[in-house]
Amino acid sequence: MMNTETIAKTINKYGNDREHLMLILRDLEAQSGMNVLDTDTLTEVAEQMNIPQSAVAGFLGFYTMFKKSPRAKYLIRVCKSGPCHVMGSRTIFDEVEDLLGIKPGEATKDGMFYLEKCECLGVCSVAPAMMVNYDIHGNLTKESLKKIFDDYRKKEPEFGEECGPEVEEKACILDNDGQTKRLLADIGKVDPLSVDSYVQTGGYKSAEKAIKGIKPAEIIDIMKDSGLRGRGGAGFPAGMKWSFVTKGDMQKYVICNADEGEPGTYKDRILMEGNPHLLIEGMMICGYTIGATEGYIYVRGEFRRAIMRLQKAIDQAREKGILGKNLFGSGFDFDVFIKEGGGAYVCGEETSLINSMEGKRGYPRFKPPFPGGSGFMNLPSNVNNVETYMSVPMIIDKGADWYKEMGPSFCSGTKLYCLSGKLNETGLVELPMGTTMRELIDKYGKGIKGGKKFKFAHVGGSAGGILGEDLMDLPLDIDSTTKAGVTLGSGVVMVADEDTCPVDYMLQILDFFEHESCGQCVPCRVGTSHLNYYAKKFASRTAKVEDIDAMVAKAQLMKNGSLCALGQSPILPITTMLKYFRADFEKHCDPSYSCPECDRSLKRYFSEGSH
Ligand code: SF4
Repeated sequence: MMNTETIAKTINKYGNDREHLMLILRDLEAQSGMNVLDTDTLTEVAEQMNIPQSAVAGFLGFYTMFKKSPRAKYLIRVCKSGPCHVMGSRTIFDEVEDLLGIKPGEATKDGMFYLEKCECLGVCSVAPAMMVNYDIHGNLTKESLKKIFDDYRKKEPEFGEECGPEVEEKACILDNDGQTKRLLADIGKVDPLSVDSYVQTGGYKSAEKAIKGIKPAEIIDIMKDSGLRGRGGAGFPAGMKWSFVTKGDMQKYVICNADEGEPGTYKDRILMEGNPHLLIEGMMICGYTIGATEGYIYVRGEFRRAIMRLQKAIDQAREKGILGKNLFGSGFDFDVFIKEGGGAYVCGEETSLINSMEGKRGYPRFKPPFPGGSGFMNLPSNVNNVETYMSVPMIIDKGADWYKEMGPSFCSGTKLYCLSGKLNETGLVELPMGTTMRELIDKYGKGIKGGKKFKFAHVGGSAGGILGEDLMDLPLDIDSTTKAGVTLGSGVVMVADEDTCPVDYMLQILDFFEHESCGQCVPCRVGTSHLNYYAKKFASRTAKVEDIDAMVAKAQLMKNGSLCALGQSPILPITTMLKYFRADFEKHCDPSYSCPECDRSLKRYFSEGSH
């Protein structure tokens, strides 16, 4: 157990309100040196914070990043989500096993390394990837793995300021001509570690202009007129959402959903790492508009570098009087704080995120009430994601008409598309909303890797639809994708080539949903497990043809009866996959059919001893 003084000091550092539980546990885990939070330590935390022991234990059990049994000095998390799977994560597990002699769930005898499989790390353009403590390593090969592990053997773990050099934000942005860079324009030009650098490029001018010279109601009109729609997936008009939170003079909150966990998505990470002040400025304008004096950024716990850079940006802005009291001499007060996630995909759902912010399990809440009426601490809260808030300063600066010049009238502006999978070039591109898959793949992705044939694209993340050749010219905007029976989601375009087995890929997707279901409601808790069971039956060639429709019926039941979007989502990837590849599922119902891809996945992830 950690000594009581260390625990007291750590609690003191953050404050003993329950809402700080995540940061306190995260800090204590890092101090353990073995990536562990043992039962005695948790009991002491509960006692000192005056929280029931069951609440602390329940909290810890909910978030996958924590563990009660000792792991090792270095915790290796290898990603197995869709993009990494397609790019060879199974081989990475094989190599790690060869090099270190451990399987997932095991530690090396010297206590140096512990291996875990994990879902998306948000670095999909450099798949296959892994995280060692909080350092990200991408484009992994046998050679690079050996060097990485040798380097770790020579040093002591750090609760680091920066993470692995392999994943630089600039390297993740494709440089091709023709991009319409607005949000990405200053990445690489602005020093993310310097508020002065941001101010010199005109930073915080939009906030000053808004706070000193534009009435909140006029900002709402500008936002509505701009046509900006939320970029998190739902596409709700931002101006209208803000207008719901303006009423009343009680405390309100601006919340940024930076829990970017949809497999294949990594744009918000790059934005936060590359230009953190732009996010603060967007939230500040929102705060002024809705009458909120506090903003919270809820960032994935895995995004260590983004967290560090945002905290530095907040500290510097406070020091310069940009955040705090009486901003720009206007009498308006505003400050921003960071909350961290603990490795739960469901916390990307806004009410689940709010529960997590309050130091609780990240269970989605029943809606209504929506966060605009009752959010953080049951007070009105506006929730948007990183890309949405970062679009605000440019709209205030250049006007709604300028913003609308790009993209369709019903869904204006640019969109960040995250390219991953079997393309010659993978990375982030910023293009007018409604760019087609053909343009993204041919021009920016430079075609399919190794001259292979395109098989399908998974657009919108795990919860998104499968798109075949016939939808190559579909404009990838919020409404056109919905009309076509798919979704733009967060802007993921993950491409699979002819070597990808649709059944094997679906196995990864359905395993993901089962892993991430919070278990709160029966249709999803039981349904995700049944779907994964069906997927394993197809993969092991033990299914019957009738199981195809049974799987669809199960997913439909979940769509109708689940509480939140997670349980409602599997139907889309399943039905769209079957639209193109039903014959593959039928073939997998024949016990004599050979599928080395499925065999490999079953052996790697689902056989005894694979955990
Ligand atoms: Fe939890 Fe799934 Fe129900 Fe959502 S649908 S609340 S993730 S069990």
